[in-house]
Amino acid sequence: MPASKRDMKFIVVTGGVMSGLGKGITAASTGRILKNRGFNVTAIKIDPYINIDAGTMSPYQHGEVFVLKDGGEVDLDLGNYERFLDIELTSDHNITTGKVYQSVIEKERRGDYLGKTVQIIPHITNEIKERIRKVAKNSGADICIIEVGGTVGDIESMPFLEAVRQMHREEKEEDIAFLHVTLVPTDTQDEQKTKPTQHSVKELRSLGLQPDVIVARCKKPLLSDTKSKIALFCDVPTSAVISAHDANDIYYVPTLMEKEGLSEYLTEKLRLSPGEKSAEWDELMDKMAAIDREIRIGVVGKYAHLGDSYISINEALKHAGIECGCRVRVDWVDAEEFEKNPDLIDTLKKYNGILVPGGFGVRGTEGKIMAIKYARENNVPYLGLCLGMQLAVIEFARNVVGLKDANSSELVRTEHPVIDLLPEQENVTEMGGTMRLGNYDAELTLGSLASKLYNGSHVIIERHRHRYEVNPDYIRQIEAEGMKFTGRNDHRMEIAEIPGHRFFFSSQFHPEFKSRPGKPSPPFLAFVKAALE
Ligand code: GLN
Repeated sequence: MPASKRDMKFIVVTGGVMSGLGKGITAASTGRILKNRGFNVTAIKIDPYINIDAGTMSPYQHGEVFVLKDGGEVDLDLGNYERFLDIELTSDHNITTGKVYQSVIEKERRGDYLGKTVQIIPHITNEIKERIRKVAKNSGADICIIEVGGTVGDIESMPFLEAVRQMHREEKEEDIAFLHVTLVPTDTQDEQKTKPTQHSVKELRSLGLQPDVIVARCKKPLLSDTKSKIALFCDVPTSAVISAHDANDIYYVPTLMEKEGLSEYLTEKLRLSPGEKSAEWDELMDKMAAIDREIRIGVVGKYAHLGDSYISINEALKHAGIECGCRVRVDWVDAEEFEKNPDLIDTLKKYNGILVPGGFGVRGTEGKIMAIKYARENNVPYLGLCLGMQLAVIEFARNVVGLKDANSSELVRTEHPVIDLLPEQENVTEMGGTMRLGNYDAELTLGSLASKLYNGSHVIIERHRHRYEVNPDYIRQIEAEGMKFTGRNDHRMEIAEIPGHRFFFSSQFHPEFKSRPGKPSPPFLAFVKAALE
């Protein structure tokens, strides 16, 4: 049984050597293996950048903007925490330099600091510690993982590392553990090199932090000699050196780290009594390993949108695939190629299903509309997400209803704005302020595909991130020709589907954000099933 309610346990995850080592996956996996031992785990991501949140950040630069139930637009690592830990987080779980400074400055203006000089230590560090502790406490978890973004030594992350150093002093020794993720490269003779790890631990120590656990990212499993060397130089027991060698899939990482004895080591250090290991995760991994079929999905998007901008879609397809016993091979198809050369549309033939994801701006939209037309006319399973629904409505209005210049007023000025701002939004001009974000209900039409794939639910809750809507003035006309709006929130259309088509489902919301391994999102599951047939 998990420990009875007592002190919150903190596990601080830092990273050394270089970015992009998979610190987020390591943090999420560490949480998962502790969850598998019966603990309630939550997680906080610290992003040392000055932005308040990821809402205004380009997905090209920063990767996907993940949307939380409360409408928080956050770092994609929070998506990994939600998926690995099967929890729902709030914006407070993403602490940025911007948020910290904003509230310290507000307090200063209010006079809360009683005339004192406001400084990084103690005012900024206090604010950081308060936030961490408050979020951890409110979550009701037993264990809180804190991932410090960036690499040890970055100027931006200094106040955060100082704050967790102070926490180490203030918390009981058994209530806080430090896990450092580093890289162990191999040289030309295939020898595992520990020097970068030694250096980065040295750097960490110079800030007053001593790691309890070293997680070494490496190509092949760490040799026992390498482990001993790291243990010796970094002053940790050999059992605290965890080999995190490359895995075929991120979901194998918890299993791999557990085999290295991580949950034992951590629960001992944190004086927790773990329960029996739950088999749920491993069973899911067995299911994944047993997959012997493959389908191909074409995701038609904007050029340069790397897979990283659509992590949640990729994961949601994967979750659905595991459930159906098939691997979902995702190809990113550049919509603009279709605009340049319309004959290329036939290359979509090779796909078992076509997906148009969310997006902003006019670039590539005509090509996406061509792909949707192809899916509709050729009875190819189609899943449209957010912009992918808006464009499906435009395509239908143009080519079936006969409104040749149907479009979205986000994209062009047109006589037939079938996608438009609702009147209540038109006067709001401030960028970012008008977006409809986070959880909203959708009421489903009985007997529709929507209702069927959500198991007969009458009302569902999904996450949103959009500004434009189906224009209510065109609903009658569109429905009369056969496209049905089977999910609604008042006068807002949430789902558009085409009855009689093999599978044509599109939503104004983003179902991908709620998909979990073992609990695939209903629209994704139904889409993959349809693609398999
Ligand atoms: N650009 C569209 C809107 O603002 C769609 C947004 C999206 O796909 N996330 O409504």
